[in-house]
Amino acid sequence: MPVSGKPPYDDQNIFAKILRGEIPCQKVFEDDYALAFNDINPQGPIHVLVIPKAPYVSYADFAATAPETLIANFSRAVAAVAKQLGLEETGYRLIANMGPDSHQMVPHYHVHIIGGRPLGHMIVPLKT
Ligand code: AMP
Repeated sequence: MPVSGKPPYDDQNIFAKILRGEIPCQKVFEDDYALAFNDINPQGPIHVLVIPKAPYVSYADFAATAPETLIANFSRAVAAVAKQLGLEETGYRLIANMGPDSHQMVPHYHVHIIGGRPLGHMIVPLKT
């Protein structure tokens, strides 16, 4: 079921467990602010999730309440991961789902980095 994207933060969500080391992930990057790991159900040749190392439910929660140092360093971490993945020349797409219409499934803010092939239009057009 998609989540609301609104607090309170549920510390039993799967990314909280990954951050605490309670379940494994295929880590590709880590610094003081962010952890990045391969998506378990990749939507492209490269599909990595970047999560802040702090309890925010969604982009809205993160943007409204995170300290500016974390916002800046997390943003830089996303770009650093994409560069590390070799995607700067060919390009990539960032997705941050928030709330029901976006189909956000995990209530810990995360940015998807997807690339490694041409990705087409941003979203599949609605059939009329
Ligand atoms: P979202 O719909 O934006 O909340 O995306 C959640 C993403 O988390 C999906 O792309 C899932 O495939 C991915 N995911 C769920 N559980 C895991 C896990 N244990 N390890 C890596 N990726 C996961």
